[in-house]
Amino acid sequence: MLNLVLIGPPGSGKGTQAVRIARRCKVPHISTGDILRQAVRDETPLGREVAATIAAGALVSDELISSLVKARLDWSDTAGGFLLDGFPRTVGQARLLDEWRSNLVVVHIAVPDEEIIRRLSTRRICQSCGLTQSVSEEWARVEDCPYCGGTLVRRDDDEAATVRKRLITYAALAEPLIALYRSRHGFITVNGAQPPDRVTEDLFKGLDSLG
Ligand code: AMP
Repeated sequence: MLNLVLIGPPGSGKGTQAVRIARRCKVPHISTGDILRQAVRDETPLGREVAATIAAGALVSDELISSLVKARLDWSDTAGGFLLDGFPRTVGQARLLDEWRSNLVVVHIAVPDEEIIRRLSTRRICQSCGLTQSVSEEWARVEDCPYCGGTLVRRDDDEAATVRKRLITYAALAEPLIALYRSRHGFITVNGAQPPDRVTEDLFKGLDSLG
């Protein structure tokens, strides 16, 4: 049973690393951002409720996100564990998760703000396959996903002003969250300002060291 939580600022490579960890540890990858964005695309009642909040770079309420995550954790595929990506984001959410599940392994990916701003200005997401990719400046106008041919778009919340807001929100909420987890067994922190494969290497080493 491996109950994993991944914490990192927007643009820390969290999504990329989450896919790799989930595959290696054979647990489902539960990304609250992906679930919400899908709901917005599908124009479900949930999607309509959160669309403006997400676009503004603000957080949806603890109540809403918590009931969504709790329902997802009740699926049978989490019997052997899970990887939560994007939850908890607040101490309140962390306390709720503690009520539902124990023995959490918390992985923290640390990246300085300047590096995040640089990365998010070139981040694109494929409208068809959902893959997140980084485009270099000269490629920024290329419209097709190199994997599936879908259209690459900038996430609404990756606009510069919104990114600054998300970073302020992240810093205010993540510090107490990390302080809560840091003192516990099962907390791993890695330097996310490295090439993705090096980050993965450090993450796997950290996970292996927990035994
Ligand atoms: P992400 O892809 O993790 O950056 O999430 C995108 C957006 O979804 C966030 O900016 C929030 O609006 C919303 N969201 C995702 N997870 C949470 C959460 N745990 N608490 C509140 N809002 C969330």
